[in-house]
Amino acid sequence: MRVTFLGVRGSTPAPGEEFIRYGGHTSCVAVAHDGESPSLLLDAGTGIRRTSSLMNGEPFRGSILLSHLHRDHVHGLPFCDATDRLDSRVTLFIPDQLDGSDPLEVLSRGMSPPHFPVRAGELRGDWSFVALSASSFEVEGFHVLVEEIPHKGGRTYGFRISDGSSTIVYMPDHCPSALGPGPDDLGEYHQAALSLCEDADVLIHDAQLVREELEAEAYFGHAAAEYVVELARHAEVTQAVLFHHKQSRTDDELDAIARRFSDNPGVIVASQATVLEL
Ligand SMILES: [Zn+2]
Ligand SMILES: [Zn+2]
Repeated sequence: MRVTFLGVRGSTPAPGEEFIRYGGHTSCVAVAHDGESPSLLLDAGTGIRRTSSLMNGEPFRGSILLSHLHRDHVHGLPFCDATDRLDSRVTLFIPDQLDGSDPLEVLSRGMSPPHFPVRAGELRGDWSFVALSASSFEVEGFHVLVEEIPHKGGRTYGFRISDGSSTIVYMPDHCPSALGPGPDDLGEYHQAALSLCEDADVLIHDAQLVREELEAEAYFGHAAAEYVVELARHAEVTQAVLFHHKQSRTDDELDAIARRFSDNPGVIVASQATVLEL
């Protein structure tokens, strides 16, 4: 499995010279089987625009799993050259809102006039829109476990994705402190998080905050980097990838966060240059 980080920023894009090394695109991760082009995209933040750089001129033919519908996770959808073309084929999985609403209609609430000129249903190519429940299923040759996790403002999923030999977990937006302080005041190591992460090779997780910011800023719905490291330890995950960096966090500040964990080789800070071969 190859995992390519196309956008690692949280909340809103962060252009500018202070953000060049880690990158300013919002959440999107491409997953490919060995030696193949990506067939699975995790979220559709502005990083999804970089998908075409992985496709050798070919259209994207695969699936997109949306963790939730916040703007930073769907903003790139109308701007992706690899998916918005006549010969693309895309199945877009959207968290089931549990109110009977049609998934395309749910997406269209934020992607239609007067909010946006192009309607979700007008994207070029062969698109289908699927309401995804918390379950496990097979897609594009991957086994995916879906669990609902706490976040602020809308149903949010974490995904555990396996190709039969390697397993990654994707939890870009997660507020474990919403369930209580937990044993170390970072939030609860709750059952959904543990069952997603157990013995995984890689955990890609919300690290919007650091411990000392948690009290003042947890109400935005995010986790601290220290929680990610501890969750990985509890669940015996090999590699913790700090992800969904705060929009104001400069390259130098992210370097400082990396230094906090420099004695732990199992922790890396995601950048737009990160590629993991599993
Ligand atoms: Zn987000
Ligand atoms: Zn969110």
